[in-house]
Amino acid sequence: RHLARITAVDPTVHAFLEVTAERARADADRIDAARAAGETLPPLAGIPLAIKDNLCTKGIRTTCSSRMLETFVPPYESTVTDRLWRAGAVLLGKTNLDEFAMGSSTETSAFGASRNPWNPDRVPGGSSGGSAAAVAAGECIGALGSDTGGSIRQPASFCGVVGLKPTYGRVSRWGLVAFASSLDQVGPFSSTVADAAELLQVIAGEDPRDATCLRAPVPDYAADLETPIAGLRVGLIRECFDQEGLDPAVKASVLAAAAQLEALGCELVDVSCPRFNDGIATYYVIAPSEASANLARYDGVKYGFRAAPGEPGSDGLAAMTARSRAEGFGEEVQRRILIGTYALSAGYVDAYYRKAQQVRTLIRRDFDRSFETVDVLLTPTSPTTAFPSGAHAGDPLAMYLADLLTIPANLAGLPAISVPCGFDAQGLPIGLQLITGVLEEPKLLRVAHQYE
Ligand code: GLN
Repeated sequence: RHLARITAVDPTVHAFLEVTAERARADADRIDAARAAGETLPPLAGIPLAIKDNLCTKGIRTTCSSRMLETFVPPYESTVTDRLWRAGAVLLGKTNLDEFAMGSSTETSAFGASRNPWNPDRVPGGSSGGSAAAVAAGECIGALGSDTGGSIRQPASFCGVVGLKPTYGRVSRWGLVAFASSLDQVGPFSSTVADAAELLQVIAGEDPRDATCLRAPVPDYAADLETPIAGLRVGLIRECFDQEGLDPAVKASVLAAAAQLEALGCELVDVSCPRFNDGIATYYVIAPSEASANLARYDGVKYGFRAAPGEPGSDGLAAMTARSRAEGFGEEVQRRILIGTYALSAGYVDAYYRKAQQVRTLIRRDFDRSFETVDVLLTPTSPTTAFPSGAHAGDPLAMYLADLLTIPANLAGLPAISVPCGFDAQGLPIGLQLITGVLEEPKLLRVAHQYE
């Protein structure tokens, strides 16, 4: 049914870069046979999922929506996808993203933009726009994305689905193509919070192949979903609601959601995170710095795209690498590499990179202080609903602002979720963001589930 749906709607939505129909049918048949034989089935048996194309899938092209990796077929499987297939989930295909996950609209893909299923003239958000759109369009039951500065939560909000960024280190990054290693985290998209909890259950947990993956035991995420939330303290971050660029419809809808939590017995508390709005400036030093180091591996030699040879005699190794990068990387990726290389260069590293690390600590301390008095923080996920395609073309700073409200949770390593909370006058979905302390996913999911 989902493959038929993909055939019907994906020519418009363009959520998928590749559909693995044959493998999906074979997997589904195998599971049907096991069920008929009365075998005990694993927890996600037969559940059709879509996977962002920056997660390595053995024997299946993994492009990061970049010419650089257009023909790259990984010889290994990422830890998260390996766990999904062992749990019986079925791969439907690989989804579109902004090139190397750098963007907020899925427009920087080298293989064409994705569209918002609610209105094809609008972007689905990004960078995991393909995964969000696939769930929203009914092309799959759930999907995986990655979130470095908002790339799961912002597209979830633009597409009217649930998107969860777990605590940094809760989920293994092994086999996720690295963008900014201290910020990247894999997480699920789904239609309901309960589904997100089930997907997290399977992908979370220790992995000896990722040294930053936490050893903390994985709790039963479904166990507490129905426990009443009366008495919990919900903090509204003042700085988020005072934003100049905050769409009044978004503000009204998120405040109405807060009132609904109050009706469920939560206490609403006004909190201040004075450094919250410094998140963007901090992120756009740290993320490009880490990206410039991570993307140094694409040199035209080891793997990935290599430019055609130049004039005989004129072409050394350095020139070949330079041409491969100029032709293999798109404009936004090149911009990030240049910003990062500059911020890390001798003479600037103290003024930019180290300063950004200091502000990052201050942002984390703001959160720590808030969690001394509240259980969960509430903000809009994005200042606006889905913007029109091309709206920010040629204006990278305007595009960067789309992640104003999501970036601080990445900088502090905190779990955060986006849940649909209404529609604007054009019928575009609005999302609210909930944030809790480190490893408090059970409480985060419980509040989100009870709200939903
Ligand atoms: N939009 C942000 C960026 O362009 C975040 C991307 C992400 O979370 N991968 O870097």
